[in-house]
Amino acid sequence: MNQTASPRDPSSPPQLHKPRLVIVGGGVAGLALATRLGDQLGRTGQAAITLVDKSFAHVWKPMLHCFAAGTAQNENDRIPFLPQASRHHFEFWPGEITAIDRENRALTLAPVRAADGSEVLGERMVHYDIVVLAIGSRANDFGTPGILEHCLFIDNFVEANSFNEKFRMALLRAFADHEPLNIAIVGGGATGTQLAAELHKALELAALYSFGQTPPTLNVTLLEAGTRILPAFPEEVSAAATKELEALGVTVRMNAMVTGADATGYTLRDGGRVDAELRVWAAGVRAPAVTERFGALKLTRSGQVEVHPSLQSIDDDRFFAMGDCSFIVGNPVAPTAQAARQQAHHLARHLPARLLAGTPVPDWTFRNKGAIVALSDYNGWGTFSGGTVFGGGWFRGLSARVGHLALYRQHQFEIYGPWRGLLSMITDGLDRFIRPAVRLD
Ligand SMILES: Cc1cc2nc3c(=O)[nH]c(=O)nc-3n(C[C@H](O)[C@H](O)[C@H](O)COP(=O)(O)OP(=O)(O)OC[C@H]3O[C@@H](n4cnc5c(N)ncnc54)[C@H](O)[C@@H]3O)c2cc1C
Repeated sequence: MNQTASPRDPSSPPQLHKPRLVIVGGGVAGLALATRLGDQLGRTGQAAITLVDKSFAHVWKPMLHCFAAGTAQNENDRIPFLPQASRHHFEFWPGEITAIDRENRALTLAPVRAADGSEVLGERMVHYDIVVLAIGSRANDFGTPGILEHCLFIDNFVEANSFNEKFRMALLRAFADHEPLNIAIVGGGATGTQLAAELHKALELAALYSFGQTPPTLNVTLLEAGTRILPAFPEEVSAAATKELEALGVTVRMNAMVTGADATGYTLRDGGRVDAELRVWAAGVRAPAVTERFGALKLTRSGQVEVHPSLQSIDDDRFFAMGDCSFIVGNPVAPTAQAARQQAHHLARHLPARLLAGTPVPDWTFRNKGAIVALSDYNGWGTFSGGTVFGGGWFRGLSARVGHLALYRQHQFEIYGPWRGLLSMITDGLDRFIRPAVRLD
C-alpha cells in the first residue's frame, strides 16, 4: 500500500528475483529500519521492503504518558505510515499479525475493520523471505485478578488517548463537585513515575483556564512492589525523584505489592487498600499476546522471541526479532528505546548483505549511552554510561530535561529527515502560541 507503487495483491506469492523483507511493527525500531532499508534497497529496486502495523500512524512510545496527561497533543507527534512509506520507498500494509506460516513463509494479517465493526480489508497473507518482528511490548499484569477488567493501560496511542478522555472527564466532575480526584498508578518504573508528574503538570496548566476558581485536589498514589522507584537508575536518582514527586503531592509507596483490583481500587498483600477513581497499570513488560500463536518459535515466559545475539530467532534464521519483543539468550538487555534503536541500526547495516548475498548477520552488542528520566518540566536526571549521575535541581534538571527532549528530536529527525524534522520543530514551537499547552477538548 504505497502511494507511488502500482496496486498489487499482497497475497500474491513472492517474486523470485526480488527478495522480500517484511518488518512487522512500525514503532521505535521498526519504522527506523523500514525507512533506512527503503532508502537503501527499495529505492534502487534491489528488494521489496514491506512494513506491517496494526495502526496507521507511528508514535514515539516514550511520549505516551504526555498524550495520556494531555500535555502532548500536536499532530506532528504522529507520523502516518503511508506518506512515510511513499517517501522512503517501502510498502505499508495495515493489519495485526495473527499467525506465521514458516513452511510457506507467509504471515497472516487480521481483517481491518472500521469503527462500526464493518470489515474494510479481509484476512490477508503477506509472503516473506526474511521477516523482522518489532511488535514491542505491553505492561504485564502477571495474572493479577481484576487488573484487565478494572485498570487502564497506556501501552499505545489509543490507550493513552482513552485514558486522557477519562482523566479530563474525572477532573471536570471533581471540579464541579469540589471533590478531590484520586488516581493510583501501579509500577514505579519510567512510565508510572513520569505519568505521576505529568498528571500534576496537566492540572497546573488546566487550572489557568478555570476562571480563577480553585482547581480540584489531585491525589496521585504511586504503588511500587520493590524497595525504590526507577530501579534502572542509581539509588540517588530514585531518592531524588521520590522527593520531587512527594513535593508535588504524589504519595509514593514502596513495598506495595498489589494483589488485586476492583471497580473502586487496589488491594495490597499487606491487607491494605488504595481506593482510586482511575487505576492505571504500568508495571512489568511482556510481548503482545499474539507471539504465543507463532507456532514453534521459542518464547520466554513473557512471550518475547528468543534470539541469538545476531537477533535471529534461535529456531529459524529467516526470522529476526528486535526491540522489546525480543530476548537475547545469554545476553539480555533491558527493553528500552535506546536498545531498540541500536538494534534497528545494526540490522539496517547488515540485512542488505544477508538479503542479497546470504551473508550472515554479525552479533549485535549494546553500547550503553546512559539513560534519562524527566518528571515533566519539574526536574530530570540522567546517567552516563560510566554511571555518573547528572541533573537534579532547577539548572541541572534543565540539562536532563533538555536531553530527554533531544532524544525525541533525534528520533524525529531520523524518521522525517533533516528539513522536515526542522520544520516540525518550528511548527511545534509555533503551536505553543496558538493552542493551550494542555488538551482541554
Ligand atoms: C510511557 C512510556 C515511557 C517510556 N520512556 C522511556 C524512556 O524515557 N527511555 C527509554 O529508553 N524507553 C522508554 N520507554 C520504553 C520504550 O518506549 C520502548 O522500549 C520502545 O518503544 C520499544 O520499541 P519497539 O520498536 O520494540 O516497540 P514499540 O515502539 O512499542 O513499537 C511496536 C509497534 O508494533 C505494533 N504492533 C504491536 N502488535 C502488533 C501486531 N500484532 N501486528 C502488527 N503490529 C503490531 C505497534 O502498533 C507499534 O507500532 C517508555 C515506554 C512507555 C510506555
